[in-house]
Amino acid sequence: MLGFRAILLALCAIVISNAKFVDYSGHKVLTITPKSEAHLEFLHKLRNDYSVDLWNEPRYTDVPVMVHLRPELINAVEEALGTQNIEYDVAFYDLQSVISSERTMNSPSNLSHASGFDFGKYNEYDKIIDLIESLARDYPKVAKLETVGKSYENRPIYALKISSGNSENKPAIMMECGIHAREWSSVATGAYLVNKLITQYGKDDQVTKLVDKYEFNVIVESNPDGYVYTWTTDRLWRKTRSRSSIDWLGVCRGTDANRNFDIEHCGVGTSRKPCEEIYCGDRPFSENEARAIRDLMIALGSRIKGYFSIHAYSQLWMTPYGTTKKLPPNYDTLVRIGKAGATALAKKYGTQYSVGSIANIIYEAAGSSVDYAYVKQDVKIAFALELRDTGRHGFFLPQNQILPTCEETFDGLMAAIEAIDS
Ligand SMILES: [Zn+2]
Repeated sequence: MLGFRAILLALCAIVISNAKFVDYSGHKVLTITPKSEAHLEFLHKLRNDYSVDLWNEPRYTDVPVMVHLRPELINAVEEALGTQNIEYDVAFYDLQSVISSERTMNSPSNLSHASGFDFGKYNEYDKIIDLIESLARDYPKVAKLETVGKSYENRPIYALKISSGNSENKPAIMMECGIHAREWSSVATGAYLVNKLITQYGKDDQVTKLVDKYEFNVIVESNPDGYVYTWTTDRLWRKTRSRSSIDWLGVCRGTDANRNFDIEHCGVGTSRKPCEEIYCGDRPFSENEARAIRDLMIALGSRIKGYFSIHAYSQLWMTPYGTTKKLPPNYDTLVRIGKAGATALAKKYGTQYSVGSIANIIYEAAGSSVDYAYVKQDVKIAFALELRDTGRHGFFLPQNQILPTCEETFDGLMAAIEAIDS
C-alpha cells in the first residue's frame, strides 16, 4: 500500500513539475538589423542550422529582426555578428526577468473598474471570458454571445455579435484576435474593441452609426488553450495545444492555427514538422480553433463586408495574398481602405503602419484565415493587422503601451470600416 502511495506521489510530482513555467533565465534577445542579402542569409542560417528562435521573419534589409538566443549560443552568435559587421542591439539581456516583471505588473490590482476589468494591462483568460460574458448579459440590446466552437481542451470559442435592432440581414464585419497565443496585445485590443462598441453605443456618434449599420462578429480569444498556456507554462507559446496524429512520440504539441486553413495548406511559409512554430497540421482544418473561425465565416456568408485578423507585431496593415506575391484583383480598393485605417490610427499617437500585401510586406504564408476568407469565402475586403511595435519589445509590449495600442487600433479599424462604402 505504501509502495503504491509512493508511486502516486511520484506521479503527482511529475505532473506538477510538468506544469511549471518554462524558464528563460540566461536567454538573450537581440534586435538585429540586416543591411545586405548576406546578413539576411546569416539570419536564415541561424534558424536552419542552430534552431534559433526568430520572432519575426528576416525578409528585407533595414527591417529589424528579434532573435531569441539560448544561453549556449550567445557568445558564438555575438562573435559572428561582430566578425560580419552586422548591426544589433540587445533587446533583453535576460528574457526570464522580462517575463517575471511582466507577471508582476499583470497581477490583479486594486483598481476597481466598473467591470473589474483593467484595460491598461494584460488580462488572464478568466478575466477575458468574464468581460465577454458580462457585456452580453448587461447589454442584451446590442450584444449577443454565440459559441462558435470548442478548443482542443474544450474551452468555448465565443463570438460577440454586436448590433442594434434586428441584425439578421445587416452587412457583417468579422474580426478574430489571439489566434497566435503569445500575441497578447491582440487579445487586449479585441477586449477593448468589443467593450467600446457595446458600452458606447448611443453615446459615441461613430460607434452608434457603425453599430446601427453593421453586425460586428468579434472573436476576442480565438486560441483559448494556447492563451492559458502562455500564462501558466510558456509565455512564448504560439500554437494551439492539440496532439497531432503524425507526432507519434507525442512530444510536440500544437498546430499553427493560422497555417491550418484550407488554402494551399502546408504551402509556402509553413512546416510539416509538428515541433516547429509554423506547423500546418496533418490536414486542413485539423484544428478546432480554425474550424470555429471557418464556421462563423460560412454562417455569415455573403453578409461579411469586412474581415480583420489581428496579430502582433510589426505595425503592418496587410491585404491578401499571403500565398503569392501576385496582387489580388481589387488591390487598389484594399489599399485605399487600408490607408484610411492606417492614417486614422497614426492620428492618435503618431504610430506609423505600412500598408501592402502579406507576401510582399512581411512574408509568404499559406493557410491563413485572411487568404481563406478572401479566396474561398469570397470576402472582398479582408485584412491582417500586425500591431505595435517594430522590434524593440516584440511580444513583450510594455504595460504603458497596451491602452494606447488598443485606442489607436480602434480608431484605425473604425476608419477602415467607414471607408469600405465610400
Ligand atoms: Zn500572429
